[in-house]
Amino acid sequence: MEEKLKKCPCCGSDVMIIIEDDIANFGTDKWYSCSNDKCIFHGINLFPEDWQSRPIEDSLQKKLDIAMKAFDDILEFKRTGYFGLNFDVWQIIKKAMVEIEEIK
Ligand SMILES: [Zn+2]
Repeated sequence: MEEKLKKCPCCGSDVMIIIEDDIANFGTDKWYSCSNDKCIFHGINLFPEDWQSRPIEDSLQKKLDIAMKAFDDILEFKRTGYFGLNFDVWQIIKKAMVEIEEIK
């Protein structure tokens, strides 16, 4: 499965793919840039792997996913009223916070 192309990290616009002939190596080069001509990243050509690499964004998304999972678990309790033996709101929050702390 092909990786979904990420939006511009600066303005959120679509990526612009640039294909150039690489005469010296009898091939082509592929670059990614921002499609928004008002953006600071427009005209700056990056290797695809550099464009797709977002370590801070990915880390924040993982933390958000954990927090949202904890919210969902708590809301599910409020909705169903189920009070299982292992259900404890504070345990859910504490577990989520420990998982979030472990993410770089
Ligand atoms: Zn941009």
